[in-house]
Amino acid sequence: MENWLTKQAKLVPQKTALIFEEHIWSFKQLKNEVIRTAGCLTKANLQREHRIALIPANTSNSYFMLLALQQLGITPVLLNFRLSSAELERQLDNAHLKVVLFDDELALRLDGCKELQKKWFVSSLAEIRKSAAAQPVIKQEFPETSTASIMYTSGTTGNPHGVIQSFRNHFYSAVGSAFNLGVSPDDLWLCAVPLFHISGLSIVMRSLVYGMGVLLTRRFEAAEITRLLCRQPVTLMSVVPQMLEQLLAVFPKSGYQKHFRAFLLGGAAISKTTLAACQEKKLAVIQSYGMTETCSQIVALNFADAARKIGSVGKPLFPVQLRIAGQDEGEIQIKAPNVVSGYLNNKDQFEKKLTSDGWFRTGDIGTLDTEGFLFVKGRSDEMFVSGGENIFPNEIEEVYMTLPIIQEIAVIGVSDKKWGEVPCAFFVAAKELDKKFLCSYGRKVIAHYKVPKYFIQVSQLPHTASGKIKHYALRNYFESNQKTSF
Ligand code: ATP
Ligand code: MG
Repeated sequence: MENWLTKQAKLVPQKTALIFEEHIWSFKQLKNEVIRTAGCLTKANLQREHRIALIPANTSNSYFMLLALQQLGITPVLLNFRLSSAELERQLDNAHLKVVLFDDELALRLDGCKELQKKWFVSSLAEIRKSAAAQPVIKQEFPETSTASIMYTSGTTGNPHGVIQSFRNHFYSAVGSAFNLGVSPDDLWLCAVPLFHISGLSIVMRSLVYGMGVLLTRRFEAAEITRLLCRQPVTLMSVVPQMLEQLLAVFPKSGYQKHFRAFLLGGAAISKTTLAACQEKKLAVIQSYGMTETCSQIVALNFADAARKIGSVGKPLFPVQLRIAGQDEGEIQIKAPNVVSGYLNNKDQFEKKLTSDGWFRTGDIGTLDTEGFLFVKGRSDEMFVSGGENIFPNEIEEVYMTLPIIQEIAVIGVSDKKWGEVPCAFFVAAKELDKKFLCSYGRKVIAHYKVPKYFIQVSQLPHTASGKIKHYALRNYFESNQKTSF
């Protein structure tokens, strides 16, 4: 295919491509900025690198750099700025890189940078962009199988894997989303999710495929985002459940401006209470399910079914085939052109994710109803069996999260002589809570075998850099008789 950015600069040169704070760039202007950035990379003699690590912030400079690397045929390896320096080093080592670029906004946060400088060529974006630009050699084409980006999974189940995403993967992901949501010429997608996650990067890639505008925000702050949703002609916004909950808490009586179409919700399960609150406010929420390895959503609920199928993540999108291994409930397996073809320098791990007939094993458990709607139950390695019954921590966590006093909770299965395994809850609360109270509350709302046998109050739970709870760290903690830390 022709280079997506130069193509859109020809097709819709005047159309808005990017809005960031007070600035607006049309596709033609975006192309010029990106090519100038590619020229600066060339001047700095980095144009021959195969891959370059980019630690982006949500700024126009990071946006330009991400696209500039692709223009030169260099793969951006996108890294999360919340990683500790040890985690960053592990990912940089795994990716066999020489050069690390970071957004200037992050200079203070990247406390590990000084250490990183000993091993890698580290530079801020401003440093690169300040040099006079040389004439860059721009890729005329984005070949389907070439790598567009590499990013690491969240590491919820253990070590993160570097996912190799091709232009073809991104293209089919964008196509699947377009067939479900429709593409309107006036679409403006609000991106408050990080550019180093597939949730953010997929918005950038869709923008290039559709010729669509992106409103990029530095961060997610509910009051500020609400102001934008009321004043700017935003049509779509990607959110994770916590973002949606915070937006609902400050939802204005008069609603958002009239162009707003829907929230695209993904990343984790959402509670039925939150979804019901959205329905009451007549806010369209498109539930979706996907992962880094599928370059964003593969299953989504369309507008028409949203109310009727509350709790479901929808039907597989047009390019996606989906099956459940086993009888009714089992592993969700998929086959689709947006499933990536490997992990970086970790062939064995990726092969373990494939079935003998080439389907991708998501590691998530789900069911399909008679109409073909998918319900995600949870991750297979978080599920446990108690007295012959399958238990998904998510269901128990959701029940306790309805108690306002509980700030956060995570449930794991721990071994038990009588039942095999029993639920154990770790929770964070504003004040010390009585275990008997928690127990009797649970007994009123869920089956007895699902009520945790142990309640352990902690000051905080272990999270990955992208904010997910590391259940495996809780298991290690419990098994070591709470002698280790998270
Ligand atoms: P790792 O693969 O390193 O353990 P991760 O799986 O959390 O980390 P991501 O690719 O960021 O990394 O997340 C994808 C996972 O998020 C899915 O496999 C699924 O478990 C979960 N997920 C995504 N969307 C939903 C959803 N709508 N409902 C429930 N879970 C979801
Ligand atoms: Mg995963």
